[in-house]
Amino acid sequence: MGIRGQLAYLVPTLLGLNLMGLGLLAAEQRRRDETEDMRARNTRVLEAVGVPVAMYVAQNDMAGLDTLVAQLSEAETDPDLIELAVLNDEGRVMAHTTPERFGDMFDDPFTHRALVSDRPIWAREGARLRVAVPASSGLRWATVEASYSLDRLDKTVAATRWRWLLLASFLGLSLGLAFSVGLERLVVRPMRLLRNIALRMGEGDLDVRVPPLKGRELAELGETFNKMAGALQSGRQNLEKAVADRTRELSEANLRLEKLAVTDGLTGLYNHRRFQEALSLEVARAGRSGAALSVLMADVDHFKRFNDTMGHPAGDELLRNLARVLTGQLRGTDFLSRYGGEEFALILPDTGKAEAVQAAERIRLAVDRGLNTGTAYKHRLSISVGVATLRQDGETSQALLESADKALYVAKRKGRNQVAVAGQEAA
Ligand code: GH3
Ligand code: MG
Ligand code: MG
Repeated sequence: MGIRGQLAYLVPTLLGLNLMGLGLLAAEQRRRDETEDMRARNTRVLEAVGVPVAMYVAQNDMAGLDTLVAQLSEAETDPDLIELAVLNDEGRVMAHTTPERFGDMFDDPFTHRALVSDRPIWAREGARLRVAVPASSGLRWATVEASYSLDRLDKTVAATRWRWLLLASFLGLSLGLAFSVGLERLVVRPMRLLRNIALRMGEGDLDVRVPPLKGRELAELGETFNKMAGALQSGRQNLEKAVADRTRELSEANLRLEKLAVTDGLTGLYNHRRFQEALSLEVARAGRSGAALSVLMADVDHFKRFNDTMGHPAGDELLRNLARVLTGQLRGTDFLSRYGGEEFALILPDTGKAEAVQAAERIRLAVDRGLNTGTAYKHRLSISVGVATLRQDGETSQALLESADKALYVAKRKGRNQVAVAGQEAA
């Protein structure tokens, strides 16, 4: 059972019980007040009656006394009167509203008290009220004693009790209802709202926010919820940014690594491995399309001598310069790589033998111009180039490369600083 259910039972029950307790107290107070009122009123009546009674008894006028008492009983002025008796000082009944009660009443403890008291006395006995007053006119002549029924009064008090009971139940129920409705609005609904929002946050929706809530504690709870969601959200954003940053850094590092894996460290050209891949691709493509394809192998002439004379660092510098010169000679689709040592390999797609020889010659001349200006080296620097063009009979990349290499060997053997073409060794 929810909070509302539990409190909605508890509050009206407690309230009803309290009101009922109050009602019982009020009813008891009313009973006392009414009894006291009845006593005072009847005491005054009996005192008034006592005057003529004393007169009759003093004159020993028993007939007059009987008439008076009979008048009192017949008059029915007081609907609560049960009986009234006039007693002498020994407790003997001299006159009585109920004739059969004549006799001695002295045994009765109340009567006994009344006979010796010189003031009015009273007592409540069950459902009756007894009052006795001395009847005097100068001397005490008799005692007038009467009993009154308390039934009417008790009925009134019982009715009061019932009214209170009804009022208590009604107030308890209606206040309980009002309390329950108020509780639903002020506490239960906001709590359900918070629960639903917490559920949504738990499912990952961190954009959700608690609207302003009534009641300081709930408003504070709502704000705390929102702060928590904000913190979670910025935490998640930070995390996402960190992940994105790391991912970017990682892919950049991967790119650098990939580039490193296919790049020659000294010249920045593609390395031997990348050349082999490119050559395979180009040979396969030319095989499919029937396009021409040529390969150049270039090698620095007498490079050992240069190294020996100028030193290896100068040799390295020369290789870098050579790479720049060769790069300057490339067309858009050409592919240049450092094959190894002081050897460079070029792939010329869509290039037939004649064009390839021209390109080789152009390159050789460019190197001749590029490497021999402003140098302290006393020999002239040059390259030898071997040219091979793919045969359209399913020639492999390895075979093509070997042809280029053989042509290079021919150029060396013929005196260097020249271009040789594969299959023309005899020339
Ligand atoms: P040839 O004209 O027959 O090609 O003679 P060569 O001296 O150029 O040929 P050889 O194969 O005898 O010598 C090649 C030299 O190239 C030997 C080696 O020290 C040098 N070399 C290879 N790679 C590098 C390099 O990266 N830096 C430098 N400085 N020298 C290199
Ligand atoms: Mg060599
Ligand atoms: Mg060489």
